Amino acid sequence: MTSPDPETKMQFLFALRSRGVTDSRVLEAMEQIDRGPFVRGIFAERAYEDTPLPIACGQTISQPSVVGLMTQALQVSPRDTVLEVGTGSGYQAAILAKLARRVYTIDRHARLVREARMIFDALQLPNVTSLVGDGSFGLPDQAPFDRIIVTAAAEDPPGPLLAQLKPGGIMVVPVGQSDTVQTLIRVRKSEDGLDYDELRPVRFVPLLEGLGKEA
Ligand code: SAM
Repeated sequence: MTSPDPETKMQFLFALRSRGVTDSRVLEAMEQIDRGPFVRGIFAERAYEDTPLPIACGQTISQPSVVGLMTQALQVSPRDTVLEVGTGSGYQAAILAKLARRVYTIDRHARLVREARMIFDALQLPNVTSLVGDGSFGLPDQAPFDRIIVTAAAEDPPGPLLAQLKPGGIMVVPVGQSDTVQTLIRVRKSEDGLDYDELRPVRFVPLLEGLGKEA
């Protein structure tokens, strides 16, 4: 896998910082994980632009600064077990793998999971487990999680995911209708209940029910 030239990499990291990604652990993880291998075909040459790009199955790899801001909001510690709903290209999960003890990532498209798994292997990220399924139901067998990140927009934070968050846990999820601007929210779970924070406007593909058709 090829790496970007140092100038391109510097501009990429500068764009992240200028858009509010300031956490040094997150920046370090994003410096280590090149976005290039996660973008294919005609879009590969735009991998280091701060923009979402199309991937297979009609889905998208998110904008790098949004990946950085969501990761930052998640406040991942090296002891954490993280669930990501919406593997997509695998880029977000690979960054989380540098920050957490264990990452489970789930997508409704088998092809995306298969392709992401090949990249996790090539990058030697043995702490990522990728699965095919409807992530709105979470992963009851591996629950509870310290952190949950949803990278597709739900109308409300899915109940099963809230139930699978540990007390003291944090979930970051875009909420709102899929065809409008949504709001990225952070949910903190305590012994007393749930606290909600609105973080910023975002635009994500929708969290859909069931499994995707193979493309
Ligand atoms: N995190 C990804 C990355 O780093 O490339 C970007 C995710 S993309 C914006 C949203 C993903 O959510 C798509 O791959 C889509 O298939 C997936 N998705 C939508 N609904 C889902 C569901 N119910 N369960 C699992 N994945 C879902």
